[in-house]
Amino acid sequence: MITQQQILRLNSAGRPTGWINYQDAVRLYCNDQVSYECGTSSLLIRGGHNRITNKQSKVLLNSIVATRNVGKFDYSSFTPTLNNETLFKRDNHHCMYCGQEFTKKELSRDHIIPLSHGGRDVWTNVVTACRRCNNAKGGKPPEDADMLLIAIPFIPSRVEYILLKGRKILADQMEFLMSHIPKSSPIFERYKIS
Ligand SMILES: [Zn+2]
Repeated sequence: MITQQQILRLNSAGRPTGWINYQDAVRLYCNDQVSYECGTSSLLIRGGHNRITNKQSKVLLNSIVATRNVGKFDYSSFTPTLNNETLFKRDNHHCMYCGQEFTKKELSRDHIIPLSHGGRDVWTNVVTACRRCNNAKGGKPPEDADMLLIAIPFIPSRVEYILLKGRKILADQMEFLMSHIPKSSPIFERYKIS
């Protein structure tokens, strides 16, 4: 549905700041906050009818918009909120022990160094694990359980986080985000994109 489509918002310097829904995008357009458009796709939103002319109002929203007054964003020291949904997306819904792909409800958050061993609940100490591997590992560190990680956990950067938080990302939005992520990012390996 068109109304589910998210618009990628940039600051006026052209750096991605996050997703907005179409209502917020309409508001930005109407308040003349859109400095320029960057996407190649657009969504036509129809509003109410004018009582005098009976003409229906229309707003054409671009898929990527740079806006004024978006506020300052610190891109270097940013730690996104850790939650299972984003963690599973970071690991592309693959168990980081057996390497198999699973659905969300078959996955769990594994603490590499268990909390009982002083491990912390932070991005660099958590991986996506299937329930079977998580049970097999028990409360032990991977080497004690004789289990090896297939990839290293990482803290998503701000742009990687925006990518992970996206729903129904359009091709032009994906391309734009990818162009703002260094080629050395583990995201490329996780998603097998080059
Ligand atoms: Zn597994």
